[in-house]
Amino acid sequence: MTDAPAPPLMLFNSLTRSLEPFEPVHPGEARVYSCGPTVYNFQHIGNMRAYVFADTLGRTLAFKGYALRHIINITDVGHLTSDSDAGDDKMEKAAASQGKSAWDIAAFYTAEFKRDLNWLNVRDPAKWTVATEYVPRMIDFAKSIADRHCYELDSGLYFDVSTVADYGRLARAVTDDGEGRIEEVEGKRHAADFAIWRKTPAGETRQMEWDSPWGRGAPGWHLECSVMGEAELGMPFDIHTGGIDHREIHHPNEIAQNQAYRGCGSLDCAEHSGARMWMHNNFLIDRGGKMSKSTGEFLRLQLLVDRGYHPLAYRLMCLQAHYRSELEFSWEGLGAALTRLKRLVMVVEQLKSASSQPPVKPIDWWTERLGAFEDAISDDLNTPKALIWLDDVLSLKKFNAGERLAVVKDMDQVLGLELLTLTRSDLRIRPKSATITETDIEATLLRRKEARAAKDFAASDALRDELIAAGVEVMDGDPLGWDWRLAN
Ligand code: AMP
Ligand code: ZN
Repeated sequence: MTDAPAPPLMLFNSLTRSLEPFEPVHPGEARVYSCGPTVYNFQHIGNMRAYVFADTLGRTLAFKGYALRHIINITDVGHLTSDSDAGDDKMEKAAASQGKSAWDIAAFYTAEFKRDLNWLNVRDPAKWTVATEYVPRMIDFAKSIADRHCYELDSGLYFDVSTVADYGRLARAVTDDGEGRIEEVEGKRHAADFAIWRKTPAGETRQMEWDSPWGRGAPGWHLECSVMGEAELGMPFDIHTGGIDHREIHHPNEIAQNQAYRGCGSLDCAEHSGARMWMHNNFLIDRGGKMSKSTGEFLRLQLLVDRGYHPLAYRLMCLQAHYRSELEFSWEGLGAALTRLKRLVMVVEQLKSASSQPPVKPIDWWTERLGAFEDAISDDLNTPKALIWLDDVLSLKKFNAGERLAVVKDMDQVLGLELLTLTRSDLRIRPKSATITETDIEATLLRRKEARAAKDFAASDALRDELIAAGVEVMDGDPLGWDWRLAN
């Protein structure tokens, strides 16, 4: 047995732009807050990359033995159509255009979002924090910083970014006027100042509005996350996550509010920001432009399923790239990930049928492989490398099937690919456009097999053509034993 000490978990902190060892604020615990969706529309698969990343981080922390407390928020109010405090509330706008109440819009898209997470095997957080349930706390938070850090305009209460040290350090932004954002709100002192509370304009009513010392209105989006993080995790907590776009505006603003609330100074001490580490996943890029929610049909998980791709193929596609790299989406890339998943599932199925003895206690080769896997994930969640160690275990034919399965099970706690329960038939998803049934395909293939056995090749070819015409690709001698698939 090798008795090497567990490698420290090194994570990239966007605030310091460096790799740092994870050292929990509360020994043995890991408290993580992930910015969640604004539930005014479906989430696209790029958004889902952010949650696969947060889930992988959470699974890794749990694998390393920390008691995880993960929070994801649901923004059901306050996020404007523009990041510069102009434009409409996304929720109210969606409600008006769909002729529904903002509450119904929120309920519908929250349920859709949770279903997508479920399909991707993203584990539920310890708590979903819903913004509208925290408004009284948001008002208290705003009251406590209003005198020293905010000023009031006709349109609302604004945070003065010059009142805190190091504003914008997370973004490495230049905040002088003339650089950065365009000032869109009349009367703002600095272009980067942002709304803490937005007043409902005189003579109007919003579906979602509350009374406050600054008049009837709604909280600013950045305020929501500061308040929910503090309420559920205490400050400072360990890790705050989000997509890389949040590194530029949303998170610097959260940080400024946190500094103000806690009376903290320089960000040379990362904890003054409210969290010890800020982590960001890079973007999923789609050059086809199908990820813009404003263009009719856009890339969401349902579309992948409709085309016959299992959602976990998308999870695997995400894991094949490092979370800090851009990942380019293509149907070919997704197809390759699906093939890899099929191969993994096929080998696991073979191991399951071969495994007679229950797994025994870890032995040398097992500890070594799992150790190498742990080294990879401890190196800033290097999932592409971790997957290679999974492949390695699956290819080690000389070892006992039960033992190999036990290692795969351990690795899958981090990867979340459901490798021990997924079956080959689960992966055979019927594209929505398909007209032929599986039973018909199997029956035609059987007739073709009989024709070939009788050396009636004309009949066999005709049957094959019949299948091709129905969108079925016949794969004679497929190494995965797949035989056929419906073309996507
Ligand atoms: P939103 O609903 O716009 O607040 O976005 C939800 C999450 O998805 C946030 O963490 C975003 O930073 C993240 N995100 C948005 N677009 C992408 C993308 N193309 N790739 C990866 N993450 C994204
Ligand atoms: Zn947030």
